[in-house]
Amino acid sequence: PIYLDNHATTRVDPRVVEAMLPWFTEAYGNAGSVGHAYGHAAREAVEQARETIAGAIGARPGEIVFTSGATESNNLAIRGVAERPRRRGDHLVSVVTEHAAVLEPLERLARGTHRLSLLSVEPHTSSQAGVVDPQQAAETIDSDTCLVSVMLANNEIGVIQPLAPLASAAHAVGALLHTDATQAVGKLPIDVEALGVDLMSFSAHKLYGPKGVGALYVRGRDPIVRLAPLVVGGGQERGRRSGTHNVPGIVGFARAVELCTQTLEEERRHLRTLRDRLLAGLVAQIPDLRMCGPDPATTARLEGNLNVWIPQVDGETIMLAAPQVAMSSGAACSSADPEPSHVLRALGLSADEARCTLRLGVGRFNTMAQIEQAIEAIGDAVHRLRKG
Ligand code: PLP
Repeated sequence: PIYLDNHATTRVDPRVVEAMLPWFTEAYGNAGSVGHAYGHAAREAVEQARETIAGAIGARPGEIVFTSGATESNNLAIRGVAERPRRRGDHLVSVVTEHAAVLEPLERLARGTHRLSLLSVEPHTSSQAGVVDPQQAAETIDSDTCLVSVMLANNEIGVIQPLAPLASAAHAVGALLHTDATQAVGKLPIDVEALGVDLMSFSAHKLYGPKGVGALYVRGRDPIVRLAPLVVGGGQERGRRSGTHNVPGIVGFARAVELCTQTLEEERRHLRTLRDRLLAGLVAQIPDLRMCGPDPATTARLEGNLNVWIPQVDGETIMLAAPQVAMSSGAACSSADPEPSHVLRALGLSADEARCTLRLGVGRFNTMAQIEQAIEAIGDAVHRLRKG
């Protein structure tokens, strides 16, 4: 099948695999065992990777903590700030359209010691669909707020949040700003200073790297952000995340980031061309199809993202009728959760409308020929289902 589910995960770039291989079978030392050449080489590789990744996001190497992925990074950022022994304030602020890996740790805290405010977003009728209202954010953030967590790019509708006003509002009361940038790193130019963030989560498998490795950027000066660790043990990552380093994964992560950085603008143009053709082709086949999320002509949106609403046709049913295309629907984003997407619901779509959607994620390895085939396959499936 044609792979158009690049928000769920991406194919590992063969150049990344090549960089990783020696670290499994030849240089397999533990980065903590620096008393011999094996461990020393592993340590060097981890530190080199840290430098590459830090450089790509405008950070310093000491500000990068390696984790098992963005889920862990989000948990470490949120619980790490909220559960600090000497903390200021118990109020957490976030957005209804965040990923579960942000909402779940926040809601857990809100069931105990903390208070949680979730900001709403612009409705689907707006050209700015999915964007947070900075005015509402400024009114919600108060002197008791310790953390504001707002994602950079949404995994379903691709909307890119303007973080600068949120950073100002958070910093004005002494709160920290965390961003889940899992869908943005490798896809957009990122500079943590320009964004004004104090903590930023991201993950290798969304940017053509391996699964099971990610990072958390933790501001190291003005101010130094201190976190209560989640995983304690051998004290790796300066005590912020214990556990033997995933050396091949970390090496692959850095190589993947490096490749994204080298071809960023070229790739953005490629993805935009494919995405725009996909939308135009689908509209030609299905004239009542509507795009969900912001209008890319006026509002920042991930180039590779398309989300469409096809009235009266269930997205899951389209997926079954068009097995030649690997995509996802507005229900069952994770198979454990058959509920209609909370992101689409937050835009104002009804549960039934949210079920009639498809998310199409275009990536590095897609070609125009594949896009044409996908248009045909989805168009045919919808026509058959509507006739049937
Ligand atoms: N945050 C966002 C926005 C995501 O899209 C994902 C991926 O599903 C995650 C977090 C979780 O990332 P990981 O799979 O690395 O834990």
